[in-house]
Amino acid sequence: MTYPSFHPPVRTLMGPGPSDINPRVLAAMSRPIIGHLDPAFVGMMDQMKVLLQYAFQTENELTLPVSAPGSAGMETCFANLVEPGDEVVVCINGVFGMRMKENVIRCGGTPIVVEEEWGQPVDPQKLENTLAAHPDARLVAFVHAETSTGVCSDVKTLSQVAHARNCLVIVDTVTGLGGSEVRVDDWGVDAIYSGTQKCLSCTPGLSPVSFSPRAVERIRNRKHPVQSWFLDLNLIMGYWGSGNAKRAYHHTAPINALYALHECLVLLREEGLEEAWARHRHHHEALKAGLEAMGLSLLVDEPHRLPQLNAVKVPEGVDEAAVRTQLLERYGLEIGAGLGPLAGKIWRIGLMGFGCNQRNVLLCLHALEAVLTEMNAPIERGHAIRAAQRVYGETGHRDEV
Ligand SMILES: *Cc1c(COP(=O)(O)O)cnc(C)c1O
Repeated sequence: MTYPSFHPPVRTLMGPGPSDINPRVLAAMSRPIIGHLDPAFVGMMDQMKVLLQYAFQTENELTLPVSAPGSAGMETCFANLVEPGDEVVVCINGVFGMRMKENVIRCGGTPIVVEEEWGQPVDPQKLENTLAAHPDARLVAFVHAETSTGVCSDVKTLSQVAHARNCLVIVDTVTGLGGSEVRVDDWGVDAIYSGTQKCLSCTPGLSPVSFSPRAVERIRNRKHPVQSWFLDLNLIMGYWGSGNAKRAYHHTAPINALYALHECLVLLREEGLEEAWARHRHHHEALKAGLEAMGLSLLVDEPHRLPQLNAVKVPEGVDEAAVRTQLLERYGLEIGAGLGPLAGKIWRIGLMGFGCNQRNVLLCLHALEAVLTEMNAPIERGHAIRAAQRVYGETGHRDEV
């Protein structure tokens, strides 16, 4: 029996992640491996830290990529900051807030939930009311960019509300980083985690995190050791180190994956962070114009929409899964399904990182219109592409990434 090598089909990824990867990043990944304590590698790690600080807009010393996907970044924040018996306010407006609550429970904390309807941002007033009723709460956690619904919550205001009640803040920006505004220091965030396969357009499997000096102090002064050995930042700091401190082996770093992340961050730096945010908004506007010209509508109210994750309502009577199958089989195009209460009701169209470009917007509009037309769905035909092109025309041509 012989087994052939695996060759994946060619796809265009416009779902909730992973996103398409720049060939420069794949090339970086295929460079020769070196030791994870090699001075050349340590030099790359130091540069990576500076590049991540730029991406997060922070001077936080403790800024590094956890060697595992976004979910591990989430666990790193909760495992290190929650102690048994702690009251933690968790704001839930989608799938990832629910996972935060589960993390609190598993760390021995007591979750206090602020609920919001899916498709709505977290309400600062509700958070304030909840904190007023729970004066012993030590932490507030919420999702910046809720990938399950396409909603952006106001991190700055929520953080102010939390700090006024002496709580530290944990923020999920797995889908936010690189795609829309993130300002860790200006916003006063204490612990934040992201992922590499969304708007950074890297391979999955790494989770950039950053912790404020206040958060580090709390971690250093814990009464109980961090329950997870692998995610204990007190130990990880020994490898990622600071300044010229000697690096100690903790675990073998995912070396080539880190080459890839380094290249993604170099690309982000070359483009410029604010330019990257503007690019996401620009292509979102074009996609939105096309979808609306087709008679489709977005789930989220305009001021709270994430440009990088477009939740589109499935028209009455349309089998949403059949549409996704057709898009994949005939156009090699992947879009996402709805989750939880939104399953069957929305599609999730990602415009993330390298995949956020004019070609993908036009492909998606064309393919969606063709598939829906064949299914006799109630849509307007023949207007979507022109509507999108009008947006591109209005603002002048922008270079593809
Ligand atoms: C994707 C995602 C995660 C989980 O990241 P993984 O890399 O899949 O573990 C967490 N939070 C949000 C908001 C996400 O979009």
